[in-house]
Amino acid sequence: MENTYDIIIVGAGPAGMSAALYARRANKKVLVLEACAYGGKITKAHLIENYPGIPSISGVDYATALYNQITSLNAEIKYETVKKIEEDNTVITNKNTYKATAIIIATGAGNKKLGIAREQEFLGSGLSYCATCDGAFFRGDDVAVVGGGDTALEDAIYLSSIAKKVYLLVRSEEFTGQESYIEEVEKKDNIIIKYNTTVKELKGDTCIESITINELGQEKSLSVSGIFIAVGLTPSNDIFANIIDLDENGYIISEDGVHTSKEKVYVAGDARVKDLRQLATAISDGAIAATTAIREMKGWFYGNRN
Ligand SMILES: Cc1cc2nc3c(=O)[nH]c(=O)nc-3n(C[C@H](O)[C@H](O)[C@H](O)COP(=O)(O)OP(=O)(O)OC[C@H]3O[C@@H](n4cnc5c(N)ncnc54)[C@H](O)[C@@H]3O)c2cc1C
Repeated sequence: MENTYDIIIVGAGPAGMSAALYARRANKKVLVLEACAYGGKITKAHLIENYPGIPSISGVDYATALYNQITSLNAEIKYETVKKIEEDNTVITNKNTYKATAIIIATGAGNKKLGIAREQEFLGSGLSYCATCDGAFFRGDDVAVVGGGDTALEDAIYLSSIAKKVYLLVRSEEFTGQESYIEEVEKKDNIIIKYNTTVKELKGDTCIESITINELGQEKSLSVSGIFIAVGLTPSNDIFANIIDLDENGYIISEDGVHTSKEKVYVAGDARVKDLRQLATAISDGAIAATTAIREMKGWFYGNRN
């Protein structure tokens, strides 16, 4: 039947596309459903320098190479948003209804909001969650980056070559990101690190003009025209809560990193409970999810893998 597939993959980020690659190489009929654009979050990476075997590549170039690889194998991609999956593996999107023997959920995770007043109002008017997408609008300006992890550190490094001054506002007294990024940040003269600092208020008429921060208990005003929020991720798996188990933060629970609580529904990438949300682990997850799904379609289960 036209709308029936061996495997439907939800999300065309690195995990979803890696799953599609393995599934197509096994000659399965595969449909990838993507809500926005192929590539997922890695397209926001200015440069990827920690993917084994590729010393340096832009996120967009990497995603495009993977996309070309799977489409050359005739993986079908449709730009539709999955709204619901039913018990019998019927997949309902904003446009169509499909049926699959196996489903791989690879929906990743989105940006966590700072949760302060006017955050939504200033989005696109000085406030951004993506330095590589919007950094160029702030050439020669002073900007702030909020966060202490890898993304905040990467954003600050990237923005330091565009903006005049970059305030890096870290809630705690140390970074949580990689040592190599920390060292690079510390070397940049125009990155000003402020530990024990939170953002209290966003100010401006139509665009951001300044922010009020609390640094070590003292309120101060910083004159900036841009603020980049990089305070972590939040998944959007609520639409799957009718069929699979989620943890208290909304990540998909998987005992072994591939199976969900429902038979024939698998998970891959940032959407699942895991310790390291990176490109290498997303790619690995996608490969394992597709391979597991294919094995289990043949009736091969744990303990019977040969
Ligand atoms: C700025 C930035 C820089 C980064 N730099 C690096 C780096 O240098 N090295 C590294 O290893 N990692 C990096 N990462 C992390 C890396 O991008 C992620 O770990 C990786 O993209 C996770 O892949 P994923 O496929 O699980 O999820 P995602 O990339 O989040 O992709 C999920 C996809 O699912 C789609 N989707 C979601 N819900 C639905 C739905 N209901 N229906 C249909 N489609 C849906 C989304 O639109 C998205 O395309 C970076 C991340 C960011 C934000």
